[in-house]
Amino acid sequence: MLAELRRVVEKVGQAPSFDAAMQLLVSEIRVTMQVDCCSVYQADHDQQQLILRASDGLAQSAVGRARIKFDEGVVGLVARREEPLNIADVHNHPSFKYLPEAEEDSFNSFLGTPIIYQRELLGVLVVQQFQTRSFIDTEEAFLVTLAAHLSAVFSQVENVQKVTQPRVLHSSFKGIAGSQGIAMARSLLFQSPSSLGEQELETTTQIDDELTALDKAIEQTHSDVQKMMSRLGTELPQDVLSIFEVYQGMLNDAGFLKALRLKIKQGYTAVSALQLVRDDYLSQFEAMSDTYLRERAIDLRDLCQRIYTHLSRPHSIVPKQGKFVLVAEEVTATMLGDFPKSQLMGFISQRGAANSHAAILARAMGIPAVLGFTAEMETLDRQLLIVDGYQGLVFVSPDAILRSEYRQLLRDEEEINAQINRDLEQVACTLDGYHLELLINAGLSSDADRAESKSDGVGLYRTEVPFLLQNRFPSETEQFQSYLRILNRFKGKPVCMRTLDVGGDKQLPYFPIQEENPFLGWRGIRMTLDHPEIFLVQCRAMYRASLSQSNLSIMLPMISSIGEVERATQLLDRAWNEVLEEVGHSRSVTRPALGVMLEVPSALWILPELAKRVSFWSVGTNDLTQYLLAVDRSNAHVSGLYSTYHPAVVRALNFIIRQGKELNVSLSVCGEMAGEPLGVLMLLVLGYRRLSMSSFNLARIKYLIRRISIAELEALKEPLLASETPEEVAQLLQCYLESKDLMQLVRLQND
Ligand code: PEP
Ligand code: MG
Repeated sequence: MLAELRRVVEKVGQAPSFDAAMQLLVSEIRVTMQVDCCSVYQADHDQQQLILRASDGLAQSAVGRARIKFDEGVVGLVARREEPLNIADVHNHPSFKYLPEAEEDSFNSFLGTPIIYQRELLGVLVVQQFQTRSFIDTEEAFLVTLAAHLSAVFSQVENVQKVTQPRVLHSSFKGIAGSQGIAMARSLLFQSPSSLGEQELETTTQIDDELTALDKAIEQTHSDVQKMMSRLGTELPQDVLSIFEVYQGMLNDAGFLKALRLKIKQGYTAVSALQLVRDDYLSQFEAMSDTYLRERAIDLRDLCQRIYTHLSRPHSIVPKQGKFVLVAEEVTATMLGDFPKSQLMGFISQRGAANSHAAILARAMGIPAVLGFTAEMETLDRQLLIVDGYQGLVFVSPDAILRSEYRQLLRDEEEINAQINRDLEQVACTLDGYHLELLINAGLSSDADRAESKSDGVGLYRTEVPFLLQNRFPSETEQFQSYLRILNRFKGKPVCMRTLDVGGDKQLPYFPIQEENPFLGWRGIRMTLDHPEIFLVQCRAMYRASLSQSNLSIMLPMISSIGEVERATQLLDRAWNEVLEEVGHSRSVTRPALGVMLEVPSALWILPELAKRVSFWSVGTNDLTQYLLAVDRSNAHVSGLYSTYHPAVVRALNFIIRQGKELNVSLSVCGEMAGEPLGVLMLLVLGYRRLSMSSFNLARIKYLIRRISIAELEALKEPLLASETPEEVAQLLQCYLESKDLMQLVRLQND
């Protein structure tokens, strides 16, 4: 049964069009289940009806025409009840409705099952038989399993059909709103590098550009191999290391390089030239009788793949000019750095959710993003797109009316932003006189902006950026310079730097971590404690940078136990002493304070022990929510379950602040909720007064704070803590926002 199931699902998934997929589906099921008829109906929620999309058994003339209302017939009943219906004699069923155009008179038994994707009914799958009989359990199970498997394919095909339908003036699809704002520009499709050799050969007239790209890729590969050799030098035996020497030899081989250049000069792109030359060399290697030399073919294959990966880095597809919306299967934070900010208007990413790091980066950059949708990528290349980051909508080839509606929305948005930005210069003081500390989360993007200088400092500096911008681990000097720049930029204001937090959805291109469950794996402090050489270099660079400005504090990510804090402290002590040695003990210097992120639930149960060892805590609500609710923050399938308004999150935050006050530990929040209007209200109700957010949100939150009163908010504490559902929590906060006439801060979102 499993093999049959797989065969049907695969065949349908590969169909060239929606209609072909549906026809294939019904024919395959009819044969596999040995039934007399199989039909599929598609749900049209606007019209509250089901349309017959394909059938093997019913009259073909009814396909596309026969319609059944959700409240009619047995097919409607399956849709309404959202469960299978197995009827031995359908004509005598009270819900039976005769569809004359379908010519189904002779079918007596009926088995129907809903097709549901992410809780949404997409259609109904039906098998029928002449014989009057109940379908047996295994038949029912087969159809239900098939419908569950097909639902994702069905939803994708459904989107593709909408997108490619020529009669429709525009098409649209919905995903998760990852970053607010509206973008209107042509799309640029980025496809992750496949394997060299899987592409069609391509020619070009831009010979010089291709030669430059080749030289750069060769140089980067050289540097990768060099770094690998020096990193592994102490761990691997000499004979294994000699493989890398072979690589270096090939990269320097004049014949190989000359052959590549020649192919480009003949008009091939650098990728095609690489493919042709590699294949040529491979056939020579493979013809050799010496086994050792024959096996060098493997090295050559690997080396060329490495060069190819550099040739296919995102920046290589960016047009010289013109704005674009980036489209990719998975946009990562690493990738975004490769596109010029002046041209990148927004992005859409098939994978990911609202708190993926790419979405956080988009919010920090102030560009809209939509994530977690299903649509066929190829149909989205070089199309005019409207990305509505408020509602998570994407419009493909929008018509003139829609374009003008969105232009108006853009103007509205600019107006609200202008109002909000005027408050940037003011102090963050509530109506009843409470001064709040508003810090920024920096580091995801390397640029400074106006809002930054209006903040009270940096509450979270994600140090991943200097690591992501390189092709290798940055040296101590490179890190020192980058940290010093930040400390100088914020002279006189506190800057809290977090030690490297890679893993999860933040991968270093040169140090990939492959894991089944990356968010539960080798992340943050776990990785750096296993690599003290990386951790020590980073801590020394931070300490050295702090000597000239005494505004630094250091924070450890993903702390889940006291052991981690103690081990990190030992290494930090060592790094500090080494730095003191260097400067000589004569100078009086202040050692930066140490704190931890509270983002792994286990940390909440060791707060007194943590308070003894560090001087501040910062709550990372992005991860805390993910781990408390067991909902992957980057997984679109469960994004509906991810909510910072969940009562468990509310009560955990309340517990933390009570403990912080009792233990006298300085406390801030640096997760994304500290930059969202409703999230800020909730934090203020609970008593948080130090918030760190993206600089893009700073103005909006200042605007909010200057129009609310802490005394009024404190009155909401009891109902907030008593709320039983995320909806109740959100409703309570929204009512307050409404009462202050501040809904425009979230207005566009709800339109
Ligand atoms: C968090 O988890 O809330 C946080 C601020 O860290 P990051 O988003 O970088 O994981
Ligand atoms: Mg985190």
